[in-house]
Amino acid sequence: MIGVTILGATGSIGINTLDVLSLHPGRFTVVALTGNRDVDGLYRQCLQWRPAYAVLVDAAAAGRLSRQLRSAGSNTRVLSGAAALEEVVRLPETDYVMAAIVGAAGLAPTLAAARAGKRVLLANKESLVMAGRIFMDEVRRHGAGLLPIDSEHNALFQCMPADRSGTLAERGVTRILLTGSGGPFRETPLAQLPLMTPEQACAHPNWEMGRKISVDSATMMNKGLEVIEACWLFNATLEQIQVVIHPQSVIHSLVEYADGSVLAQLGNPDMRTPIAHALAWPQRMAAGVAALDLVQVGRLDFQAPDYNRFPCLRLALAAMAAGGTAPAALNAANEVAVQAFLERRIRFTDIPPVIEYTLERVTPCDPVSLAVILASDTQARRIAQEWIGKLRN
Ligand code: NAD
Ligand code: MG
Repeated sequence: MIGVTILGATGSIGINTLDVLSLHPGRFTVVALTGNRDVDGLYRQCLQWRPAYAVLVDAAAAGRLSRQLRSAGSNTRVLSGAAALEEVVRLPETDYVMAAIVGAAGLAPTLAAARAGKRVLLANKESLVMAGRIFMDEVRRHGAGLLPIDSEHNALFQCMPADRSGTLAERGVTRILLTGSGGPFRETPLAQLPLMTPEQACAHPNWEMGRKISVDSATMMNKGLEVIEACWLFNATLEQIQVVIHPQSVIHSLVEYADGSVLAQLGNPDMRTPIAHALAWPQRMAAGVAALDLVQVGRLDFQAPDYNRFPCLRLALAAMAAGGTAPAALNAANEVAVQAFLERRIRFTDIPPVIEYTLERVTPCDPVSLAVILASDTQARRIAQEWIGKLRN
């Protein structure tokens, strides 16, 4: 049996992962499930899956979960605090770690999984955006596995040459074509964008996801973060990656080769496909996903991205080009701005200016250590809050 620990079990990716695991009861066992403070969600999951450990980062929530589980006769041990996330990742029983915490909070435990040499199923793209070089180095040094869960990167992984050594050019790859739906506001009149609510931003046409990534999809910051993620995962330069708008979300991304071949991975937009792929790799197993009906789909459309409509995409590419800790600062400012938008403290169209303001003011650093990266994250959050604070005065 393969032991699976899920970081962010109570979220969208976590729930989809358990759904896939439920189709393969003899093959996987759940070692630990973690969440932030969702007592009810984790309680239900613990009763169903009987993991050895459950973690809630929030101590009061963990206390409540522990009491509820005990009175239900459960043997699951409840831990609390961010350090406990790293503890359950390192357990010898943990073979695979689904890294599905949202945001910068996912970096430390995901890195711990790489350092412990586990197979990392990486949904938490923010880890790579913040600390791409360190993360990739640790994966290599500790012989960890790294399977992308982000649908585009999982598609690229599937379309890449099987031999994973050498540069893209040495392997005959000329370009990566990263597709994106354009989100819910692809055709919204620009004048209406300032009025868009969190509910509208979170109503994605093709995917059902957590709130933060849903807003990122609406601003297309998500695609910017994904370009950075692809640079690290596939050792690609910015020039080797082209973003293509593909509203149907049926082609999940493509790899272009020197001989003119372009390989694509297609499927219904359902995260259980990349999750099942990464769990079973190099084999294949059922994901519970409906077969793709191309006749029903009918047509596949493609457009160039509109950088005027989606300034966040431009800001992300610029941060990656600047290098150093700029992507970490971009990520931090974005997290602050998205949270403020979700709490209705700023408008949808205030998100890019918060990030731009921050990037103009952070101290550029060489990301030589995690400490430097986290200091940049902290500084960027403070500057982003300062922009938001100015709105009030
Ligand atoms: P979500 O908001 O639905 O779930 C987030 C999970 O992280 C929850 O379990 C929550 O309890 C936990 N969490 C939140 N803050 C935490 C903290 N400070 N410490 C510890 N745990 C914390 O998010 P999601 O949509 O499942 O996305 C998770 C990650 O996967 C993100 O990085 C996202 O970009 C990536 N991703 C998601 C999808 C998708 O379809 N949802 C697709 C591709 C990539
Ligand atoms: Mg994606």
